[in-house]
Amino acid sequence: MPDLIDRAKEMEMRQRQAALDNALQTTEPPQDIQDGVVICIGCTTPIEIDRLNAKPNAARCIQCQTIEERRHGR
Ligand SMILES: [Zn+2]
Repeated sequence: MPDLIDRAKEMEMRQRQAALDNALQTTEPPQDIQDGVVICIGCTTPIEIDRLNAKPNAARCIQCQTIEERRHGR
């Protein structure tokens, strides 16, 4: 029954991909700090200095933070 085996393989691959996606979404990479510049983990552009002054541990720029908050329904 090659069809069944193919289907099982495909399902396994999808589950692995889903688990990977999940892991990538939940584990945030460490902040990339160079010369006092913090790189946004969302779009990899430097976070505005005003934002860092207001929130020194910010991991995202204001645009990405807004998107993230909307995604969580806030
Ligand atoms: Zn960003």
